[in-house]
Amino acid sequence: MIICIDPGHGGEDPGAQTNTPFYYTEKQFNLSLAKKVQTILEDNGHTVYLTRDGDQYISLYDRAQIANSTNADVFVSIHANGSSDPTSEGMEAFHYTGSSSGRSLANLILNSMHDEFRDHIKRGVFSANFAVLRLTLMPAALIECEFITNPHQARFLQDERNQNIMAEAIARGIQIF
Ligand SMILES: [Zn+2]
Repeated sequence: MIICIDPGHGGEDPGAQTNTPFYYTEKQFNLSLAKKVQTILEDNGHTVYLTRDGDQYISLYDRAQIANSTNADVFVSIHANGSSDPTSEGMEAFHYTGSSSGRSLANLILNSMHDEFRDHIKRGVFSANFAVLRLTLMPAALIECEFITNPHQARFLQDERNQNIMAEAIARGIQIF
């Protein structure tokens, strides 16, 4: 399978961020997790492209163009969530409105993640008109791993062991698609 993984945000766009209990940005988390997913999938014989492999700004349009130009079979955009309410928490996933294949992919990944972290809230799978989902030509999903703006969940997201488990879960979801 050819898989395009999209670590959300980057460069001048940090995404969601927190100062509690430490300074941590979504762009850092997204890239760290994406690289782990890439390694696992490559070890399993898949071809993986990242839309960015460093801290650079890539437009949403360019992210979709990268995915389309690689002829990827699957596109997965990795994010952490943000909210003005520091108690917001949970995992969720999105697919493009009307895309049943995207919905299936989003479901598989979210269920796989939640199987590993059953104490987390599964907020659900939702349809959305996000540019990276709309402009990509292959089944596409966007996952929001947890809320970086929740101090407890920021700690969870930053933890290397949790990232490794989450990466395995995401890779498993993609491979059973
Ligand atoms: Zn994001």
